[in-house]
Amino acid sequence: MFIGSIYSYFNTQMKYLLQDYFLEFKTPFSIAHGTRNGTDIVLLKLEFEGCTGNGEASLPPYLKETKESVKLFINDFFLNHPDFSIDLEILLSTLENFREENFAAKACIDIALHNWHAAKNKIALWQLLGLKNSPLPDCTFTIGMGSRSEINLKIQEAADFNILKVKLGGNHDKDIIAWIRDLTDKHICVDVNQGWKDKEVALEMIQWLHEKNVLFVEQPLPKLNSEDMAWLYEKSPLPIYADEAVQVADDVIKVKDFYDGINIKLMKCGGISGAIKMIAEARKFGLKVLIGSMSETGCGINAAAQLTSLADYADLDGPLLTKNNPFNIVKYENGKVLLQ
Ligand code: MG
Repeated sequence: MFIGSIYSYFNTQMKYLLQDYFLEFKTPFSIAHGTRNGTDIVLLKLEFEGCTGNGEASLPPYLKETKESVKLFINDFFLNHPDFSIDLEILLSTLENFREENFAAKACIDIALHNWHAAKNKIALWQLLGLKNSPLPDCTFTIGMGSRSEINLKIQEAADFNILKVKLGGNHDKDIIAWIRDLTDKHICVDVNQGWKDKEVALEMIQWLHEKNVLFVEQPLPKLNSEDMAWLYEKSPLPIYADEAVQVADDVIKVKDFYDGINIKLMKCGGISGAIKMIAEARKFGLKVLIGSMSETGCGINAAAQLTSLADYADLDGPLLTKNNPFNIVKYENGKVLLQ
């Protein structure tokens, strides 16, 4: 099942394995950034005291980290912190402060450590985190940009889901929404991935979308365009969520005045610990919370799903969009991600 090189290491106590992986989409996936066939992944497996903890780093090409930088970071971290038996909180705090940036690499270790501790304690990860497994929010089903026939096919695949997440920011935005509305009146949320460059165009589009049973619009303008975003926020008839504009907990205060909610991804903020901090910060300022993901295997998606009882929406349909997911552990029912 596994493809790519496997590297096996020991520090003084535990064994860990690192593996390159290429996670392939079922069909080429198009958003405002471009089209791709899959995503580079680094998988990590910790083995200690008879228990296993898996983690992953997902590395879409528009982020700075690479497979090499992730493996280098993980090796350096375990080389510098050989005592694996210390308290989880202390280890996670050490990880957060070990060098700057490297958020996907930190997420990889953070997820593996959490999974290992859940396995060691023989409880689910949400229980380890002191969270609940209900009520859970709706999970969105992603519709990438495409032709009318491709969109039609996606709508059929989304039959069990209550909310469609539609990628816009191209040349046929109104066509795509119109094609979908010919087929279904399900709720839609729209993700522009910074694709609308002009605030007036963005406002006109949002006003048009407001008539189409759209719940919210994600990242309509380039992330650094705060001035135009403040203008748009004042006038928008729909809630606006930040994704690319907010990465870690310290960023939340910077966007709180011109977004209604934020998209939190483990790969952006260094893992489960970083995401919990972001959720707390968002709630402090009255912002809505969407738990999202990069293109990830079931390992990363399952880790993010553990936090969904704290969220308003989940955007965790990744395993349904890929064809070689090595962790078949995420289950969906009635448009929600079930917690394992
Ligand atoms: Mg997004």
